[in-house]
Amino acid sequence: MAKLKNTGLGVERICSFCGKSADMARQLIAGPNDIFICDECVEVCRKILSDEDQELTNEFSGDIPTPIEIKLYLDQFVVGQDAAKKALSVAVYNHYKRIGSHGKVNISKANSGEIEIEKSNVLMIGPTGTGKTLLAKILAKKLKVPFAIVDATTLTEAGYVGEDVENILLKLIQNAGGNIAAAERGIVYIDEIDKIARKGENVSITRDVSGEGVQQALLKIIEGTIASVPPQGGRKHPNQEMIRIDTTNILFICGGAFVGLDKIIARRVVQHPLGFGAEAAGGEKSLRELFESLHPDDLIHFGMIPEFIGRLPIAVSLEDLKREELKRIITEPHNAIVKQYQASLAYDNVQLEFTEGAIDAIADTAIKQKTGARGLRAIVEKLMTDIMFEIPSIKGGKQVIITQDVVERTEAPIIQLLQKSA
Ligand code: ADP
Repeated sequence: MAKLKNTGLGVERICSFCGKSADMARQLIAGPNDIFICDECVEVCRKILSDEDQELTNEFSGDIPTPIEIKLYLDQFVVGQDAAKKALSVAVYNHYKRIGSHGKVNISKANSGEIEIEKSNVLMIGPTGTGKTLLAKILAKKLKVPFAIVDATTLTEAGYVGEDVENILLKLIQNAGGNIAAAERGIVYIDEIDKIARKGENVSITRDVSGEGVQQALLKIIEGTIASVPPQGGRKHPNQEMIRIDTTNILFICGGAFVGLDKIIARRVVQHPLGFGAEAAGGEKSLRELFESLHPDDLIHFGMIPEFIGRLPIAVSLEDLKREELKRIITEPHNAIVKQYQASLAYDNVQLEFTEGAIDAIADTAIKQKTGARGLRAIVEKLMTDIMFEIPSIKGGKQVIITQDVVERTEAPIIQLLQKSA
């Protein structure tokens, strides 16, 4: 980047952005290391930034999609999980309706007398690899709001080694391109929320740093506060300039597998059938039916503190993906794994096909591995490694068919050369 130009008559100061010399510009502002910027370039930069702000604000100022529209959008990317999609669509619609079109709470105190509509953060409960993170991500995409994913296990209570909870907000601000106003109506997905449960229900006498402390620290920002975020991330320290962000309108979606929660619910249902009927006590209920009977006390029993649960009034449960659903995930969504490999290999002049038996076998392998849809990509990747290694060196059109035997490793994939049509 040009800065000081040696003209032979001494060094001339010029704008590092447009190259204008000091006498051509009305004003030249100096930065460190002999960098300069002229008044016109400052104006251009200001305009770029304000246009960007405008863009983000405009994107949201349109109509809020209806729950049905949101659900239909989710359907394009997320297979199954109908009940969760429905509940989330309603929750998200209500949340953004509450915020109004310009990021201000318009139907809380202002327009509806004294009735304040409280924010409803969401708790998603479901086994790993069933689409919790994916749902949150696609929701943010549909609403065109900034989105951040954080892992609760990396967080610590202030004063301990690890990340302060405010760094969640820094991530959101960064993903909003530094636009605080946009970040203030974004969505944050906090994964592995069950991992910050208290270890045992009656351990509160000896304060549990890793769990309860983090839940306490998260309370305020989830509920809504003006938080101070260190711009560089990491730990806060005195004399540091802070970014201030209001979290009132940020939607927090917390997700976790909550392994063992089903047993806690089942035990309660057995002890207090409360109209669930005798068959409820028989332990024959599916996971989904059990989660439908979820009561906040079950989560407290699991190790979540009551105040924290109070901030997550909407609980949505996701089911283990069935074989048919896994098969659909492999082939159907917009960016399905099979479609990705077909597109990638088309570049090497290859027609790639998976037989029905192969898709069945891939789904069965994922079920055996108990990783939900998360394991599908790795399974296919493994199958494809040899082919992807060899095929770019083979000239001409080719066809590769992946069969059940190939998936089950009893046969190598067959590469057929295609005859050129006359
Ligand atoms: P988790 O429930 O553990 O948060 P993820 O949403 O991260 O699971 O899922 C991992 C990957 O598996 C996703 O990126 C997506 O490719 C796939 N996946 C999981 N569930 C679904 C689903 N219901 N429909 C489509 N793809 C899914």
